[in-house]
Amino acid sequence: MISNMCLVVLEGRKCNPFLEAWSQQFETRRIMRAFFPDHIACMRNRAFQWFRDECTQPWLVMCDDDIVPVDGTEELLRTDGDIVGARAWSRGGHESHQGSFTMAAVKVHRRVVEAIQPPWFAFSFSQDGLALNQCECVYFWKKAAAAGFAVVRAGKVGHRFPVTVVPGDPQPTFLFDADLRKAQRTPDP
Ligand SMILES: [Zn+2]
Repeated sequence: MISNMCLVVLEGRKCNPFLEAWSQQFETRRIMRAFFPDHIACMRNRAFQWFRDECTQPWLVMCDDDIVPVDGTEELLRTDGDIVGARAWSRGGHESHQGSFTMAAVKVHRRVVEAIQPPWFAFSFSQDGLALNQCECVYFWKKAAAAGFAVVRAGKVGHRFPVTVVPGDPQPTFLFDADLRKAQRTPDP
């Protein structure tokens, strides 16, 4: 049983069964559900605020509901640091946020959450509103770096996402997002 970390799962749809099973090892765990309409940056801010004000554990482990723990995930829990970010694989099959880190699966020490003034997370858009300039992960990373905290990358996690099933004889075809993009066509409905 892990007793010095609190696991918070940010649930938009439903916590996947792999993460659900993995979560059982945490003595303190909480599922924070999205309100509708909601935004991931707001959910992350609410998780941090709750952890700062109402939780007493030294560590916060925050995971999105589509994160799938794998063999290498334990390293995230074992590694010490201010902010420990797991390497995560996106639905396209490549590693996301290679130059920085993603907030999809992260471990943060209380000293960081308490030292940084909210908002901890925000998105920024181009002036014309047509492009996303910076996601909430990089926003937090820059704010933490400016406050003197370092990010360590340790451990890795998988991702669970929907698959498109195309009828076929005798076997249906399962198309992943990356395959769909490669094929550059929409399958027959
Ligand atoms: Zn991001």
